Amino acid sequence: MLRLAGAASTHVGQIRKTNQDRAIFTPVIGAVADGMGGHQGGEQAAAIAIETFERLSESVPKHRLIDTVRAANRAVFLESERPELRGMGTTIVAAVLHPDERRLTMVNVGDSRGYRLRDGDLEKITVDHSLVEELVRQGRITEEDAQTHPQRNIVTRALGLSAEVEIDAFDLDVRHGDRFLLCSDGLSNEVAFATIAEELHAAEDPEAATRVLVDLAVAGGGRDNISVVVFDVVDEQDPGFIRATAETTRRPTPRATAAALDTAPMPAISSDDETTGEPDDDGGGSDDDGQEGDGRGDGDGRADDDGAVDEVPRDADPAAGVDRSTAARPSPEVERDRSRARLVALGVVITFLVAFLGINWFASSAYFAAEDSGEVVIFRGRPGGILWIDPEVEERTGLEIDELTPAGVQKLEQELEWTSLEDAEDFVDQLERVAVSEPED
Ligand code: MG
Repeated sequence: MLRLAGAASTHVGQIRKTNQDRAIFTPVIGAVADGMGGHQGGEQAAAIAIETFERLSESVPKHRLIDTVRAANRAVFLESERPELRGMGTTIVAAVLHPDERRLTMVNVGDSRGYRLRDGDLEKITVDHSLVEELVRQGRITEEDAQTHPQRNIVTRALGLSAEVEIDAFDLDVRHGDRFLLCSDGLSNEVAFATIAEELHAAEDPEAATRVLVDLAVAGGGRDNISVVVFDVVDEQDPGFIRATAETTRRPTPRATAAALDTAPMPAISSDDETTGEPDDDGGGSDDDGQEGDGRGDGDGRADDDGAVDEVPRDADPAAGVDRSTAARPSPEVERDRSRARLVALGVVITFLVAFLGINWFASSAYFAAEDSGEVVIFRGRPGGILWIDPEVEERTGLEIDELTPAGVQKLEQELEWTSLEDAEDFVDQLERVAVSEPED
């Protein structure tokens, strides 16, 4: 039977006077909340959100976790009606284990993150709902720029800003030895991905991992509150577990994964749809319908260091934000990388094939009428052709251009497209009827 063993830690950092982060790990759930909206507001928002999760006392199915995020959102939103708390909000990242299914659900709103470490590879699971993530996605800044961007603390989604909230959820397979990290941006902005990977991998247990990561973030400047939750997936029946208790296990050298290869664009799932995306399953089934509630149109913001809330349009589209590193790879994994490369190549071939067939279909799925050698002719294809596919003569109608009225010629020159040959023929019939009746007027 699977279970989680973990620890949570939070630190005010070196600059801030208050800690507006909250972090918990219970046998049921791990969660991190990063509050925003002024001193009182930020603390309140994070505390309210985390209390909502703390009340979970038994195993939580996926939909219940999403419902809990919604409940936390409403609770924060209601409290923010109070004038002194107006504008407060909080991020959330939370995870629950489903031991019977050997799966784990992770949810997030905002820029607090979830990662999975497996066989020494660290993979970012969540996608930040932040301005810089959006800029990176649009190719306007690089990942490195994002690390130091002056607006890197602006989030595009948060709990408590409106009655409904959009939630991303990730359904992951788990196995003995997987280690998960949930953290606020006080860690991810202060400590490099590769360092996080290395330390997380090297740490003896979750408690040691939280301590080391918080220490690194504080030492790195500690410009923000820092929260870290680390937990391990433990299967006492797993041979790895039995071996580990007898001797010290040696894990392979840590390396940061080129996550783009085995991390499909993070698909979000909706609570009422059990179809899930699995970021680790070579782009397995994904469900684009990740929209929870509407909430669009109202800008959400993250408090700056001075507590001011910046407004940004809420148009973030969940997209892969992946961390990369060039660390050396140990040889046992070369084979895995090769098969991964083969899969990618196969994917590329399939993509081209689908695109080729799609273009062919599109180019030849319409009919239009045009003049050819003084006659109205029905063509199959698109006027002017599409890429390499020229329209072909489908039917010569015998209707001479000279017989058409000026209005008919004008109509013909519009090169209207029809989805069926019958529709195109009807159109020519109409031209013909007008052409025939006109001289009699
Ligand atoms: Mg923060």
